[in-house]
Amino acid sequence: MAAKYRLEADVAVLEIDNPPVNALSLPVRAQLVAGIRRAAADGAVKGIVICARGSFSAGADIKEIANGLTFAPPILLDVQAEIESAGKPIVAAIDGSALGGGLELALTCHARVASPGAKMGLPEVKLGLIPGAGGTQRFTRLTGPEAALEAITTGAHLPAARALALGLIDAVAADPLAAALALARSLASAGAPLSLASERADKIAAADRRLISAWREKIAKEYRGQLAPLRVCDAIEAALTRERAEAFKLEREYYLECRESPQRKALMHVFQAERAAGKIPGVGPEVKPQPIRRAAVIGAGTMGGGIAMCFATAGIPVTLLDVSGEALERGLAGIRARYASSVARGRLTREKVESALSLIDTATDYEALANVDIAIEAVFEDATLKREIFGKLDRHAPAHAVLATNTSSLDIDMIAAATARPQQVLGTHFFSPAHVMKLMENVRGAHTSPHTLATVMALARTLGKIPVLAGNCDGFIGNRMLQYYGAEAERLLEEGATPEQVDRVIEAFGFAMGPLAMRDLAGNDVGWAIRRNRTLPPDERWSPILQRMAEEGRLGQKSGRGFYRYEGRTRRTDPQALALIERVSRELGIERRQISDEEILRRLLHPLVNEGAKILEERIALRAGDIDIVYIYGYGFPAYKGGPMFWAQQAGLGEVVKTMEELAPSHGHRWLPAKGLMQAAEKGEWTA
Ligand code: NAD
Repeated sequence: MAAKYRLEADVAVLEIDNPPVNALSLPVRAQLVAGIRRAAADGAVKGIVICARGSFSAGADIKEIANGLTFAPPILLDVQAEIESAGKPIVAAIDGSALGGGLELALTCHARVASPGAKMGLPEVKLGLIPGAGGTQRFTRLTGPEAALEAITTGAHLPAARALALGLIDAVAADPLAAALALARSLASAGAPLSLASERADKIAAADRRLISAWREKIAKEYRGQLAPLRVCDAIEAALTRERAEAFKLEREYYLECRESPQRKALMHVFQAERAAGKIPGVGPEVKPQPIRRAAVIGAGTMGGGIAMCFATAGIPVTLLDVSGEALERGLAGIRARYASSVARGRLTREKVESALSLIDTATDYEALANVDIAIEAVFEDATLKREIFGKLDRHAPAHAVLATNTSSLDIDMIAAATARPQQVLGTHFFSPAHVMKLMENVRGAHTSPHTLATVMALARTLGKIPVLAGNCDGFIGNRMLQYYGAEAERLLEEGATPEQVDRVIEAFGFAMGPLAMRDLAGNDVGWAIRRNRTLPPDERWSPILQRMAEEGRLGQKSGRGFYRYEGRTRRTDPQALALIERVSRELGIERRQISDEEILRRLLHPLVNEGAKILEERIALRAGDIDIVYIYGYGFPAYKGGPMFWAQQAGLGEVVKTMEELAPSHGHRWLPAKGLMQAAEKGEWTA
């Protein structure tokens, strides 16, 4: 198991054999070096083919990645040096995927042949890195800078046909190994000097350098605050402007800079947390998920329509049920409009959408649920209504079917009690827009069985979602934490901040939208209605600002005015909104003061972390990383900061304790530092 050496007549074949993804682990690297040397020294060998069964190589070994990206020699650069100095033609035969270091290895060879279904890419930016073994340089020299910028700053996977059109590979063949053997022989017999990607200059000589500045601007907008995409740009610029060896050296320096950056560590944490979140103690591989072949969604509104789209897009037939033909028609119109916009954005093809739409049917009668494997309820947030619906679902859905609710906050056990199968009931909390947002917060009730959990965690993957398990409590993980963040934004306004300042600080931190712009988007009447139904402990109060906004018709985007004034979707400062806020300050007898950006950040984010600590203590979340995943994929927390819990741990948990100690006297006892936070601050890290 590593890289096997064999002879096919006069060509040496080096077959990477390191299942499951043929990672370039140390033994693979060592045997590639040994194999190339052996072939180079054997007079009977004319050429070499590097190949692998199944998939060429997914790049670095996850264990070495997790170990801070420290690699024992020979490292990939050593293998590449061996290839470039072998003196015999070396051809890569690419089946499956060649990603990251795997593609860098292939790009070093004298030629590449790929199967029609092969995929190639340099996805390092997704981990906060740039390719560090000449990937940016060789790619740019083979395709020119434009294609390289596009592919490497996004980490996109290129299909074989596209890679061929760009010049990244030399041929597409149904049997890439046979084609690579033939190519190695013909290169050897031609006797012409061997061409290396690192020496190609034709595609970079005439490149327009202005391209680079245009991409820098694009990156600054789309990847605001992120280091790696910018460094990709710098490395590609070096390919165009620097002498070859110097450009390779610069790429390596940028790679090392990214490797040591907090962003890379945060993204690596996210990568690992995402995988860990799928694991539930007590639900091992022996608990087989129920296959989901047919689904139903109850309620064809905003969420129900989006959830039905998730099934249909994944190829699972789904029945949408609502109270009337009109409600269903409205729901379907919404679904068609959202699919049309996915086509316009290039996310889905027209054919894909057609086939998805053909999988959605509608019903007003529960008889239609006779064959479903799961029903997800997404009707109004009303406990009595939901219980009534679960009673009907229990009577009409097959005995094996899972019954799930998309409630944002209601008690799962109270809903499950309306059925005779509480072991098959749980929450599946999707986020809006449900067909886009990645998170699925699955809520375990007191009786939910491991089999039901396994089914829904597996279903999430089928739907292209990232599942996190939450315990049953008011607001579950995400919304429970969010209430503190939302409330604090208004307290800051009362004390002297402006909506622009609060949102600017949060957006500069990396969120797509600040809390007040978010309120305007969701509707201030909606926010106020939710708040009105909640009771606070006696030592706590809501700021009256949201209520005033709602009462004065400042509902947000939909009424053109809220915390801002809107021209279309563009927000503008509104002196009237500020006047409303200042009136509130006066009435409360608060003397408005300058508030620093640093104070805003800490007062908004530290309470999230404090509540996260309680959620951990109560085992509502199994791990701190689960909370990070919820916030990144459900609430727009910047992934390159690692999620609230990781971010706070990096910045110092003691700081969170301090903020909460400051806030508690004016905010109420729930704002006191959590026990789990104090313990974690002492240790310097979360224990779960
Ligand atoms: P919505 O008002 O857009 O849609 C509700 C739908 O339920 C309507 O089409 C209505 O006709 C239908 N309905 C009402 N009574 C019904 C009945 N007896 N039988 C069948 N259908 C019935 O609401 P929404 O925003 O989609 O929210 C649905 C659920 O999802 C709520 O529990 C909400 O808390 C939750 N949720 C909403 C969001 C969000 O951002 N909107 C996010 C997560 C969860």
